Amino acid sequence: MNISFDLDSTLIPNGKEFETENISKVAKLFGIEEIRKGTSKLIFNLQKQGHKVHIYTTSFRSKRKIRRTLKYYGIKVSRIINEKENRRVLNSLNSYASKFPPAFNFHIHIDDLKGVGIEGEKYGFKTIIIKPSDKDWIIKINNKLKELENII
Ligand SMILES: [Mg+2]
Repeated sequence: MNISFDLDSTLIPNGKEFETENISKVAKLFGIEEIRKGTSKLIFNLQKQGHKVHIYTTSFRSKRKIRRTLKYYGIKVSRIINEKENRRVLNSLNSYASKFPPAFNFHIHIDDLKGVGIEGEKYGFKTIIIKPSDKDWIIKINNKLKELENII
């Protein structure tokens, strides 16, 4: 499956929302961002199972900056969709959604915003909504993906 992850408040904390992976002060100075503890292992395991992992964010960070941060943690993703590309594609589809994963052939999108889950119900795409405070977020994602694999 093509699985997409949101960045802000899902994988990258806004302040001190959740525990993060170790990062050196130097890396921070060079603009590498903190990521949620367990992210590398989760993405690596999903890829090992044959899934393709993507980033789908409505932030205007450049793809290059996002790739650099992920690379620091040993993470390699297939596609990165930032807000610049998202707006261009959704405008061309006359879509008013904030995110529309099917436009990028993403089968399931993981996000912190309930609103994205509501849009999923409205526009017919699948989401997993994870709160920043959710300590069992990885278990939740793995369980939901197993459920979905039986449907898709
Ligand atoms: Mg978010």
